[in-house]
Amino acid sequence: MERNSEETIAIDNTSFEDTFESLVATTGTSTAPAAPVLKKGITEADAALTAAVESGDKEKIEKAASEAFGTRQWADQTINIISGCKVGCLGCFAAEIAYRYKRVAAGEWTKEKLNERALDAKVPSGHKLTMFPSAHNISPEFLEPCEKKIQQILDSGSDILIVIKPWRVVVESICARFALYKDRIIFRFTIGSNDNEVLKFWEPGGPSFEERLDCLKYAYDHGFETSVSCEPCWGGDVDGLIATLKPYTTDSIWIGKMNMGKARMKVNGYWNAETEAKHNELMAWYSDENMIALYNRYKNDPTIRWKESIAKVVGKRGDCKD
Ligand code: SF4
Repeated sequence: MERNSEETIAIDNTSFEDTFESLVATTGTSTAPAAPVLKKGITEADAALTAAVESGDKEKIEKAASEAFGTRQWADQTINIISGCKVGCLGCFAAEIAYRYKRVAAGEWTKEKLNERALDAKVPSGHKLTMFPSAHNISPEFLEPCEKKIQQILDSGSDILIVIKPWRVVVESICARFALYKDRIIFRFTIGSNDNEVLKFWEPGGPSFEERLDCLKYAYDHGFETSVSCEPCWGGDVDGLIATLKPYTTDSIWIGKMNMGKARMKVNGYWNAETEAKHNELMAWYSDENMIALYNRYKNDPTIRWKESIAKVVGKRGDCKD
């Protein structure tokens, strides 16, 4: 996907989430209000959202969903050490913030740069589950510093949730280097579609579906906890995707919608007639009816978990109960 050649378009909708993520990008470590972890992979914010959805109480769901927004549903700390990401997702939130705060020049987001200060920064102690990374990927070129940071996080006493669009060489290396820590590591591989054309459109520099599946199998076969982020879910054959991934998933498959896609694509320089049409197609697929039908197909499956974007729809319509 060609990026627009003109300057990125500024938008003025700074929210708390933006400010929070902007702090992450600046300092390397999140300063968000703590989202305490109950047990590996489940934060209090997530547990509260699940309970709210089960109660069917719309007000409770709205409140719990806003408190579980973004990474707070998954971890009590996020750490990043790279600026930029060569995957270059059209709707990337981190790119949008970097462009909006003029931390990178127009069109430069896909050029990855190590943030030495963030790499050297001490990892705060007292956290139970750290998400690393949350605003970049782990590419083969920056594997070594990323592994160094993983070690620092483990040494701080926190377990680690590694969230990436995985390349095989990266996963093989982490599995080998951290084999002794496998009970303190959960992998979460982002796999939003089993269709390579779709992945290529939305995540142009990312690994193929086959490579991501291969990584999931590899981590599973090597005794690591595995999970999947199907967020953004790109539509299409979601049932087939879940059926393929589930046998190699020990923990969870998270499903969510693309958040603020249009605004982010505009700022990121990817808004044109073609992307607008694809975006609109995706928004139509995200219809409340479709999301509720999806929820109802998997609501009794404990492996399938819902990001706040779908929990809100289910709660809003009150269709989450039997
Ligand atoms: S993989 Fe993540 S950080 Fe990288 S471009 Fe995509 S959304 Fe942004």
